[in-house]
Amino acid sequence: MRYLQVQEIRCKHLLHRTNASFAEWTLNPYIGCGFGCSYCYVPVLRAKRGQEGADTWGNWVQVKVNAPDVIRREMLDVPRDAHILIGSATDAWQPIEKRYCVSRGVLYELSFYPNKVTILTRSPLLIRDIDLLKRFEQVSVHISVPTVDEKVRRVFEPYAPSVAGRIRLTHRLLEAGIRATWAWCPFLPGVENTSEQIRRYVQTAAQAGVREIWVGRINYWSFLEERYRALLRKYRAQAGWIPHLLLREETEQLVREECEKSGIVCRI
Ligand code: SF4
Repeated sequence: MRYLQVQEIRCKHLLHRTNASFAEWTLNPYIGCGFGCSYCYVPVLRAKRGQEGADTWGNWVQVKVNAPDVIRREMLDVPRDAHILIGSATDAWQPIEKRYCVSRGVLYELSFYPNKVTILTRSPLLIRDIDLLKRFEQVSVHISVPTVDEKVRRVFEPYAPSVAGRIRLTHRLLEAGIRATWAWCPFLPGVENTSEQIRRYVQTAAQAGVREIWVGRINYWSFLEERYRALLRKYRAQAGWIPHLLLREETEQLVREECEKSGIVCRI
């Protein structure tokens, strides 16, 4: 348990144009993120832009309390074929959402429109909102699962939901008929890249019912490398062994092969 500084704010705009390859608009009902993952690229961007809070990332969050009202107004001007991404710079279902329900309010407003919506999250709290997700014509959830090893998770993202929670979320979404994919994002270099670990990851995904995995690397490596290496040393000291590391090409090839064996579409 740790102290989280919460501030309520009112936003003028919620939707922002994005250059992401698969969406035209993005929205984030919160600024900041209580999960505070060690490799998160958002504080790096904040530091580059000279914004406050980069060095305390994970310890504070601002709640856009009027987000549902703003999206209700903004959606009047959004083309019906525009794709909307939720959660590009925060996890919209982080723990504070249980109390404020602003992401649920935003989903409710969006559910009146035919727009395609993609959600990025690692939080089983989204299970609460499956009733709303079922109302959408086109919705998909990318569940961030950088590891299926709880020991690794506790080192690199100690305040984020357990692996079991993410698997539970996957099951519940798929049971409800909602498209759910896994984002192996980021792929943790030096940790999850032995052939045994890759096999275990893909088999765990297959057992959870996943049929598509997106693999991505750590963004802004040059900014995050030092911190990452310190955590890697910590993990290795705890694990008590140093895995034989595969080269990147070998790793990617192995991921592709394991996915193919399990009937999973792999996007690297
Ligand atoms: S959940 Fe996403 S936004 Fe939140 S700290 Fe982790 S990587 Fe960053």
